[in-house]
Amino acid sequence: MRTSQYLLATVKENPVEAAVDSHRLMIRAGLIRQVASGIYEWLPTGMKVLAKAIQIVREEMNGIGALEIAMPLVQPASLWQESGRYTKYGPELCRFKDRKENEFALGPTHEEVITDLARREIKSPRQLPLCFYQIQNKFRDEVRPRFGVMRGREFLMKDAYSFHLNHESLEKTYADMYGAYSRVFTRMGLNFRPVEADTGAIGGNHSHEFQALADAGEDIIAWSDGSDYAANIEMAEALEPNLTRGLSGATYSQEPTPHCHTVDEAAAKLQLESKQVLKSLVVRGAPDAEGKYELVMLCLCGNQELNEVKAGKLKGLSAPLEFATEDEIKEFVGAHPGSLGPVGFKGRIIIDRTADKMANFACGANQDGYHLINVNWDRDVPNYEVADLRNVEDGDPSPDGKGTLHLRRGIEVGQVFMLGKKYSEAMQATVADEHGKSIALEMGCYGIGVTRAIAAVIEQHHDDKGIIWPQSLAPFQVAIIGIRSSSSAAVKDACENLYEQLKQNGVEVLYDDRDERPGVMFADMELIGIPHLITIGDRGLKEGTVEYKLRKDGVKENIRLEEALPYLLTKLKSKA
Ligand code: ATP
Ligand code: MG
Repeated sequence: MRTSQYLLATVKENPVEAAVDSHRLMIRAGLIRQVASGIYEWLPTGMKVLAKAIQIVREEMNGIGALEIAMPLVQPASLWQESGRYTKYGPELCRFKDRKENEFALGPTHEEVITDLARREIKSPRQLPLCFYQIQNKFRDEVRPRFGVMRGREFLMKDAYSFHLNHESLEKTYADMYGAYSRVFTRMGLNFRPVEADTGAIGGNHSHEFQALADAGEDIIAWSDGSDYAANIEMAEALEPNLTRGLSGATYSQEPTPHCHTVDEAAAKLQLESKQVLKSLVVRGAPDAEGKYELVMLCLCGNQELNEVKAGKLKGLSAPLEFATEDEIKEFVGAHPGSLGPVGFKGRIIIDRTADKMANFACGANQDGYHLINVNWDRDVPNYEVADLRNVEDGDPSPDGKGTLHLRRGIEVGQVFMLGKKYSEAMQATVADEHGKSIALEMGCYGIGVTRAIAAVIEQHHDDKGIIWPQSLAPFQVAIIGIRSSSSAAVKDACENLYEQLKQNGVEVLYDDRDERPGVMFADMELIGIPHLITIGDRGLKEGTVEYKLRKDGVKENIRLEEALPYLLTKLKSKA
C-alpha cells in the first residue's frame, strides 16, 4: 500500500475527549472515529488490525471444533420474554417496535436466539455436544460509554454457545474454551490473567473472566502471592478476621456531629479514626409478589467498602442490590443518610465480618446531626446477622488459605460461563434420552470483546511516540520511508524496488511515498506502530546502505540495499 493512495487519517493533536492512552492513540493513529456516543467507525488501518484479531479468534475457535454461524442483531422480544430477561435485562437492552408494532431488541448477547436455534435443530443426543460461535456487532445501551471502544455501545464480540447432554461434557468444552481463550490472548500479545468471576446478567453458576492487566482497566482483580487464586474483586471472599472483639466499656452516649455526612467527617468531629466509626447503609430487600420490599441495614467498618455483588447474593436482598432512596430512609428511620446506625433500627441488620469485631464504636444516631459513641453489638444491638459484605483489600489473607491478596486493575477482554440449564429449561431446549424421557440441555456461553481487546493491547503496548503493535496484529509489517524521493531518482527507484519485492513475497508493506518532510513521515509510521521501518536516503545509498529500525526498541542498523529483502524476511519469520 502506498500512502498516496491510502487514508492514513493520522491526527497530530491529542483528542480532548480521550481519557486513556488507547483511546487517544486509536484516534491519533487513524484507527477509529466516533460517530455518536459509544458508536465508532473503523478506518482502513483500524480495519486491518481488527481483521487480524478476528482471524486469530476464528482460528482458535475452529481449532476446538466450534462451528461458525451468524445470528441476527435484531431479535424478537418474544424470545426474551420466554427466558424472562425482556423485563429483567434493564435499560442496556435497546427495545423498539417495527412498523407493525411488533417488539424487538438489539442483541446485547445471544443466549435466547441460540437456545431457540438449538431446540429446533438438535433432535437427538447423538448430535451432542455442539458448540457454535459468531463474530458480530452487539449493542448495549451502556450508561457510561467511555474510553473509546473499550466501553462502547456498539462493539464487536465473539460469542460462543455450547450444548451438552450432561455436566461432564460441559466441563470439557469449558476447559477447551478456557484453553482457546488463553491462546487467543497470548497470540494478541496480551499480559492477562484468568480470574474467578461473577455471572451477572448472563446467569449460570461458574465463570472466569480473562483480565488484561492495565491501569486503565475498570475492574479490580485480587490475586494471591501464595497460590493460583485470582478473582474479580466482586467475587473475592473476605475471610473472618483473626481478631477477638474487645470488651464493652461505658454505656453509649449521643454526640452532636452537625454537617457531618461521611464517615471521615464524623470521625474527624469525634476525634476518632475512621475504622472506629461504623458505616451504615440502607438497601432494599427482595420484592415480594406485590413488589413490596423491606428496608435492610448493612453495616461495615468505616474504612472499608461495601461489595454490592456479594451483598446482592445474600438471601432476601434485592439482586442486583438496590439502595433505598433518601425519602424511603427518612420515612423508615427518621433521619437522613450520614446519621444512620443500627441502634434502634426497626428492620433487618446485616453486619460485615470485620465490623463484627468492632467494640465501643461510633455510629449514626438515627437523628440528623448526631452520632452515638461507645456502641457495642449485642448489648446495644441485640439482633443482627453477620456476613461477608466488604471488598477485600491489599494484604488480606487469600480465601484459599494460601498467601496474601494483592489488587490490580484489569480490562475484561473475555468471559466464559457454565450456564447449566437456565435457558434450556426456560425455553424447553430438550432431547429425549434412550427411555424417551426429555432432558434439558446443559449450556455454556463464552464471549470475547474483540474491539475491547484491541484497545487493551494498545494500553499494554505503546510509548510516547505511539502504538507498538505485536506482529500478530500490526496493520502493516514493514514501512518504507523515502527521504526526499521526489527529488532523487535513486531513492525513488530503491524504494519502488524494495516495495515491489516485499509485496511479491506477501509482506504487508506501507510505502510512504508522500512528498513530506522526513520528520512527518517518521512520526506517522511510529504513531501507527508498524514493527519494522526501512528508511532510504541519498546519503545511505551512496554507501549502498539503507537504515533499518525496529519500532519496539528503536534500535537502528545500516544494512546493504540488496540485503534489505532477505534481512526483513528473516526478521518477519522470527517474529522479532
Ligand atoms: P462489563 O462488565 O465490562 O460491562 P460484561 O461482563 O457485561 O462486561 P460480557 O457479557 O461478559 O460483558 O461480554 C463478553 C465480552 O464482551 C466482555 O468480556 C468484554 O470483553 C466485551 N464487552 C462487554 N461490554 C462491552 C462494551 N460495552 N464495549 C466493548 N466491549 C464490551
Ligand atoms: Mg463479563
